[in-house]
Amino acid sequence: MLANSRLYSVLFNKCPRCHQGDFFVKNSAFSRHFDRMHEHCPHCDENFMPEPGFYWASMFVSYAFYTIYTLITFGIVVVWLGVDLDYYLMGLIPTLVLLTPFFFRMARRTWLTIFIKPLPQQRI
Ligand SMILES: [Zn+2]
Repeated sequence: MLANSRLYSVLFNKCPRCHQGDFFVKNSAFSRHFDRMHEHCPHCDENFMPEPGFYWASMFVSYAFYTIYTLITFGIVVVWLGVDLDYYLMGLIPTLVLLTPFFFRMARRTWLTIFIKPLPQQRI
């Protein structure tokens, strides 16, 4: 169900058009060159750089991910578990720093996925 969907390509580092080729060169967000992207899809040759500065707006997508993460963890840790707000903030800030490469990559894949229409699914 998830395979060959836009969500699949965002979550699993795949091309938003064919869902086969890798979007970033490295599959791990926590590798040395986590930000290196293919300029074209290695499988279907879709252009991953539609125009200069295209990914500037993905910063806002990244901001949305940070906000959602903060709200969810706040709800769990402070409201549900009753942990003091100071301890929560002391844990939140390093967590956000550590998750920066993950959110960076998710935001870029999400931003490109919004503008690219996937290929129709092939039925066998
Ligand atoms: Zn592709």
